[in-house]
Amino acid sequence: MKGSINVSVENIFPLIKKFLYSDHEIFLRELISNATDATLKLKHLTSIGEAKVEYGNPKIEVKADKQNKKIHIIDQGLGMTSEEVEKYINQVAFSGAEEFLEKYKDSAKDSGIIGHFGLGFYSAFMVAEKVEIISKSYKDEPAVHWICDGSPEFTLEETTAKTERGTEIILHIAEDSTEFLEENKIRELLTKYNKFMPVPIKFGTKTHTLPLPEDAPEGTKPETEEVDNIINNPTPAWTIAPSELTAEDYTSFYHELYPMQFEEPLFNIHLNVDYPFNLTGILYFPKLSNNLNIEKDKIQLYQNQVFVTDEVKGIVPDFLMLLRGVIDSPDIPLNVSRSYLQADGAVKKISSYITKKVADKMVALINENREDYEKKWNDIKIVIEYGMISEDKFFEKSDKFALYPTTDGKYFLWNELEEKIKPIQTDKDGNLVILYATNADEQHSYIQSGKDKGYEVLLLDSPIVPHLIQKLESSKEKIQFARVDADHINNLIKKDEPVISKLNETEKESLKKTVEESINDQKFTVQLEDLDSSDAPFTITQPEFMRRMKDMQATGGGG
Ligand code: ADP
Ligand code: MG
Repeated sequence: MKGSINVSVENIFPLIKKFLYSDHEIFLRELISNATDATLKLKHLTSIGEAKVEYGNPKIEVKADKQNKKIHIIDQGLGMTSEEVEKYINQVAFSGAEEFLEKYKDSAKDSGIIGHFGLGFYSAFMVAEKVEIISKSYKDEPAVHWICDGSPEFTLEETTAKTERGTEIILHIAEDSTEFLEENKIRELLTKYNKFMPVPIKFGTKTHTLPLPEDAPEGTKPETEEVDNIINNPTPAWTIAPSELTAEDYTSFYHELYPMQFEEPLFNIHLNVDYPFNLTGILYFPKLSNNLNIEKDKIQLYQNQVFVTDEVKGIVPDFLMLLRGVIDSPDIPLNVSRSYLQADGAVKKISSYITKKVADKMVALINENREDYEKKWNDIKIVIEYGMISEDKFFEKSDKFALYPTTDGKYFLWNELEEKIKPIQTDKDGNLVILYATNADEQHSYIQSGKDKGYEVLLLDSPIVPHLIQKLESSKEKIQFARVDADHINNLIKKDEPVISKLNETEKESLKKTVEESINDQKFTVQLEDLDSSDAPFTITQPEFMRRMKDMQATGGGG
């Protein structure tokens, strides 16, 4: 037998209310998104000549009426006729936004229309016991008034109460949701979700002080006026072409995004792609410092300028989680409640695009100004090194921008390093031996003795260095890392003329023996140094592999 499941609206309403959106606070985002869509649709229709009305400078207004327990959301968009209310509102899960984009496929694809699932409107019932819509279409038809108390019954009537074009949504806030009537709560929500939405949003007024005329006598009180309090910046930096932005614009946008961050970012990466997916955004490399709040100031994900979430795991590769900034893409597949990512091939593409952009930016930066790049290396190395370990594509490009600093302040690219050390740091099997220290103070005497022999000693002091070394050794031919205090250093082919020792061979042997006996540990090797060439008479080394095992354990092992 075949049949169709009978879904009755009575059953669906409470479900929407309870489970569809886990987060009640998003009702305001959804209603402002609809108001924005209505405005953008009108903009589009006037621009193509289909709506013959004045577009003007529309805004959206949010009003809280605590006394009567109401919130009003008023727009000056295209409005709805009675027929349209029936079609778009009374049909749950029918998206007028999708229909619009389908109808105006070619011309409206960049219009920034937000709606998607045809469910956003009903999120109003998560906080309201009754919802009213009063709407007047841009078409020459009477205004309409729709009222619904959350049951499947509604009333829809003509009204003369509204003469201006647009829609007003009135929420009668339920007893259990009165917190949303608080001005501070509304301001908090507007700042979180709507800060960069494309239509100006007014919430209350503020006092604006007019400048004094130049010839005003001393002590004149300046005049003030009440102006709209607009809570959003409708054209955030990421929506503007990079060629139109100055370095200051990028920095001030950073501070707009993270008002509590006082440190300047090191540099930014402007993302902009429209094929095979749409994505814009700006990523910043923050300066690593104690006041870096990794937990709080995270990368923010937007969809058409509506804040979605700052949980960007999966979209942004792990190694870039330390960065800051915004990503905006209408193509990121999110579920209805828009806070969870749906696993999807597109997401992988986005992640690898971002990785590639960051690699390209590094190449550009080092080529533009090597000195400046070297200065920033200490702040960015953790991100780059982590990227080299975790993303093969990034690793493949890293020879062009990964620096290997020495203990005496030089910075080599990989091939520069190879060139430099080839003549004297090659072992008997023909491997390049790359000497490094992990702590300049603790390993000071080893570093010194390496340098005295003419070796370059790298300073690799990030916590993930053991993994980085493993990655480099397994990917590059004929190289071998050795920490300065490792026994490996003994195998280096020395091209230097031997210095005449003050001790003869028998004296050396007996000194060596004495030291070995006093250490009394098979794990260490004692090597006598020539007193002339080093301030340490002998060095005690440990096999490289043993030390590495310990390091790996300390940083969580694995690879
Ligand atoms: P969508 O995903 O399409 O935004 P919603 O449930 O949020 O779905 O809204 C359903 C439809 O109702 C919208 O697509 C739109 O056609 C209509 N609508 C909702 N709010 C407004 C408004 N303020 N002005 C005009 N039309 C609106
Ligand atoms: Mg919507």
